Amino acid sequence: MANIIKTHGFVLNTVPFKESSMFVSLLTRQNGKVKLVAKGVRRPKSRLCGALERFSLDEIIYYRRESKDVYTLSDAVVIQGYERIRTHPQRVNAALVLCEFFDKTLPPEEPHTHAFSLMDNFLEALTRAPEEQIKSTTYAYLLKALPDAGVHPRIDSCVRCHAPIEYNNKKVDFSIGAGGIVCERDFDDTVVFMHHDTLDALQGIYKNRSVVMTERTVADLARMLPDYLYYHLDGLALNSLKHL
Ligand SMILES: [Zn+2]
Repeated sequence: MANIIKTHGFVLNTVPFKESSMFVSLLTRQNGKVKLVAKGVRRPKSRLCGALERFSLDEIIYYRRESKDVYTLSDAVVIQGYERIRTHPQRVNAALVLCEFFDKTLPPEEPHTHAFSLMDNFLEALTRAPEEQIKSTTYAYLLKALPDAGVHPRIDSCVRCHAPIEYNNKKVDFSIGAGGIVCERDFDDTVVFMHHDTLDALQGIYKNRSVVMTERTVADLARMLPDYLYYHLDGLALNSLKHL
């Protein structure tokens, strides 16, 4: 028996398949991440081809069969193509950071309404962000997405002994391995320092306050986040993050 599913989804990634088809990974409102095959989509006359650009929000219809791992995309219509992002290469690359992150970390077919609304808010924010805030906006949303992959950094007290940390304008020790800030007693070889304003920004982001990132906070995150992702998510490396 096949279920017909109609839902909204962001195109996370596409990979050519056979002569004229494509695998499409989407973050759907209803069923989390799904992987579909779009048959014949690379033929010039396919009605689906314009709808499968990465980070477009589409209305899609697909058939779900219990016996198959990959389902067939039946129809896709663009609801929001984010033209203002698409005409600006740095914004395009920024948009792909969250696409790549969700594509590589979310388990298939588990509802993830938080990830879906985060993507929605991120692309809206990226559309509006002044050029000099593209990076900080992207890091802020990538940090907000970490809990969706089960790797929330611990930043309220020492991640090992839970002692409160006095950092009075000093640099803060963050253990990549332990996944959070550490006190002097729990210092380990994976500790990197971050500035206290970076800790303030992290705390603001996870408490849903509006955060203004300083230049050095952006630099701290650029230095720490790739190692953090690599360590906690099985060697994950985001290509789009390298080019941000
Ligand atoms: Zn400690």
